[in-house]
Amino acid sequence: MSDMSFALTDEQKALKAAVSDLCKQYPAQYWRDLDTRREYPDAFVNELTKAGYLAVLIPHEYGGAGLGIMEAALILEEINRSGGNAGACHAQMYIMGTVLRHGSEAQKRQYLPKLATGELRLQAFGVTEPNAGSDTTKLQTTAVRAGDRYVVNGQKMFISRVLQSDLMLLLARTTPVDQVKRKTDGLSVFLVDIRDLKGLEVRPLRMMMNHSTNALFFDNMEIPADSLIGQEGKGFSYILDGMNAERVLVASDSLGDGRWFIEKAVAYASQRVIFGKPIGANQGVQFPIARAHMAVEAADLMRTKAAKLFDAGLPCGPEANMAKFLAAEAAIEAGNACIDCHGGYGFAEEYDVERKFRESRLYRAAPINNNLIMAFVGEHVLGMPRSY
Ligand SMILES: Cc1cc2nc3c(=O)[nH]c(=O)nc-3n(C[C@H](O)[C@H](O)[C@H](O)COP(=O)(O)OP(=O)(O)OC[C@H]3O[C@@H](n4cnc5c(N)ncnc54)[C@H](O)[C@@H]3O)c2cc1C
Repeated sequence: MSDMSFALTDEQKALKAAVSDLCKQYPAQYWRDLDTRREYPDAFVNELTKAGYLAVLIPHEYGGAGLGIMEAALILEEINRSGGNAGACHAQMYIMGTVLRHGSEAQKRQYLPKLATGELRLQAFGVTEPNAGSDTTKLQTTAVRAGDRYVVNGQKMFISRVLQSDLMLLLARTTPVDQVKRKTDGLSVFLVDIRDLKGLEVRPLRMMMNHSTNALFFDNMEIPADSLIGQEGKGFSYILDGMNAERVLVASDSLGDGRWFIEKAVAYASQRVIFGKPIGANQGVQFPIARAHMAVEAADLMRTKAAKLFDAGLPCGPEANMAKFLAAEAAIEAGNACIDCHGGYGFAEEYDVERKFRESRLYRAAPINNNLIMAFVGEHVLGMPRSY
């Protein structure tokens, strides 16, 4: 690829500035209050949608801005850098990619323009199950064809934003595992309209952070057969196709968190005077912040490389995975440095550091655990034996 410049274009700088302006209307108190009540940032997400930011990846012909993953990444990064939590809305950006790449023309025309205007929300992605976490091929939820319907039975775990979505992308087994050649065959993806859907029970879970996460129970849940995306049985590969985008975008959430921690730590360490001088003059305080800053900057380079490859239509699996890993770890390092330099105040709700720490901690474990990324790099990048 010819252009590997890491400088942002003027348009990208303007985009970041505009998102930053929007975020200023939703200050720390807004996110803190929602966190306390474990409520969804409806007003923020609605405004972001109205401004078109959640539709940047939707092509012009379906009502979106037709921009690249780099622009989407900058939007999410800026939300987290400003103190907000893009986890409330990042999924729509990568979930709708499955509809875009594998949906029929009729499905794209039916859903994408409404997602772009905000008339419909697609924030829910139902994959994880109690007995199928990292090993997606072990999914036990079944979707059985019955005339013009599929009948869904089973259970999902940790499915976020279901109560704030109109639509959910659902992965279920349509052919029993003992009847397929490879265990990755026989899984199918459905775009399910979950509004007033009979047979669906949603049980909210109180998690470490405000993430609108639920356990789902499907009891003979009937969905129209035309909810199927693409070909029956090919769902696993469709989900894999969306992984690079997901990795780059989640890495961007983490980069934003990392930058927020560094800015907050630098400001506090520079003004807090103990033993007659600012605590930031002590290397024990300063060096962890400097080290974390370097980790964030390095992760940014990998994220940007992955995004540029993605936008150029080139393979970017290793880079996207490494970006997600490095950014999540850098954010945790920055979070630790930020908590430490704040002393007791790092644990006080009103400083927001503990909230951001809880929010950023998630991305070591989800949407994919960093262990599985190391397994991917070990096996697929370095050619070592498969570990699972
Ligand atoms: C707040 C939150 C929101 C979420 N939202 C969603 C959502 O919207 N939709 C959705 O589908 N899922 C969601 N998830 C689920 C998340 O993607 C899973 O938790 C994750 O994929 C891991 O699955 P698991 O929790 O069952 O862990 P497990 O797969 O049981 O793994 C447990 C631990 O063992 C490690 N491990 C397992 N196998 C190996 C191996 N071979 N080598 C090394 N280490 C291994 C894992 O890395 C992990 O550390 C969410 C989770 C959380 C916490």
